[in-house]
Amino acid sequence: MSVLRRARPCFVSATCCCRVLAAAVVVTLASHMPAATIVHAQDGFRGFLDALWPDAQKLGVSRTVFDSALKDLAPDLTLPDLILPGREKGEHKGQAEFTRPPQDYLNKSMLEKLAVQGKTLAGKHADSLRQIEKEIGVDGNAVLAIWGRETAFGTYKLPHDAIRVLATQAYFGRRKDVFRTELLAALKLLQDGIPRASMRASWAGAMGLTQFMPSEFATHGYDLDKDGKVDLFTSVPDALASAAKQLKNKGWILGLPWGFEVKRPAKADCALEGPSNGRPIAEWVKLGYIPVKGRSFTPEQMGVEAYLMQPAGTYGPVFLVTENFKVIRRYNTSDLYALFVGNLTDRISGRGDFETAWAEPKMLATRNIEEIQRLLLKSGQPVDKIDGKIGSGTRQQIGAYQNGAKLPADCWPTEALLKQLRAAFPAVIQAKP
Ligand code: CA
Repeated sequence: MSVLRRARPCFVSATCCCRVLAAAVVVTLASHMPAATIVHAQDGFRGFLDALWPDAQKLGVSRTVFDSALKDLAPDLTLPDLILPGREKGEHKGQAEFTRPPQDYLNKSMLEKLAVQGKTLAGKHADSLRQIEKEIGVDGNAVLAIWGRETAFGTYKLPHDAIRVLATQAYFGRRKDVFRTELLAALKLLQDGIPRASMRASWAGAMGLTQFMPSEFATHGYDLDKDGKVDLFTSVPDALASAAKQLKNKGWILGLPWGFEVKRPAKADCALEGPSNGRPIAEWVKLGYIPVKGRSFTPEQMGVEAYLMQPAGTYGPVFLVTENFKVIRRYNTSDLYALFVGNLTDRISGRGDFETAWAEPKMLATRNIEEIQRLLLKSGQPVDKIDGKIGSGTRQQIGAYQNGAKLPADCWPTEALLKQLRAAFPAVIQAKP
């Protein structure tokens, strides 16, 4: 599922506001759609569901299960990330969407609260966590942190029916093929005896205590309590072990810290960010990157491969991150997600907040970040996606551009950078004001 950026419950998510916003836009579109268009779309939806039968049958789904799951199913047009009839793909992007700053996603009071609960749960589930480390080879506190991030340790109530969400996304969504496969996998879960009522999901169909997509039940499911079935809905041992199994299958290395907050040296080059500039920690130390809080790297850590990760450019803490950070990103492709899980792991293990404070740079609108990406591409930077998101690629390319243009480098999309780029490349079409 690495291609699918999973939509997680957004009880602590910075993208939450954007999802809510996107959902509001979709509702608006649906309410402005002519009635005939809606009827036509729903007929198409019905036909799409009926046509799934041969593939469902191949998976061993019975006609009874198939019919009872899909008959009378209406799409949920309020979900985010849909392309609705009569509207161009991405038309809503003219809306003033803003990415919230990293420190909002890494919500300090939420992290503190989850860490307190996590420590209690570490005691309660100590036997399972030891078993997970021994049988699967994944650090117990990292698995607890995933559970905390995904569903606030099972206290977050998932709002959607998985079958309805997956069917809607498979017919109206932006990633139809991915969701068609997931819908078929969900039908197979019903066939295998998971009750429909248990299959509550996020808006993108992730289910259970540690938010698995339906296809992931088969690839990573693990029966830790040895009762003969994998239960990711009510068995904490199974859910934790399955999350661990997923991390292991994606490359987890037992005992390797996810990363280290480091001090930025006086002559730091922020354009060294990103996996392509990875090198052994000893080399980062030579460049002046040392751990915060007077800590030092162990001789063993000095040989570990790490890359520089600066979620707010030069406006916040910086990190050297390891292979296990990449593994967490394979669970959910986001630097901030991985950093949240990493910091929560550390907090459950007895550590605390980041040392370096976050500055509060004014966040640009998504369309302005897209414009910066287009201008960077024009300047010769290898921009591979105009997506309005501030990932490590965008930050690194901003730094590389600033270095090349002899500007002070901050590796962050600011108003000043946008003005400078517009002046340097006036021919590039600008975003609407
Ligand atoms: Ca079990």
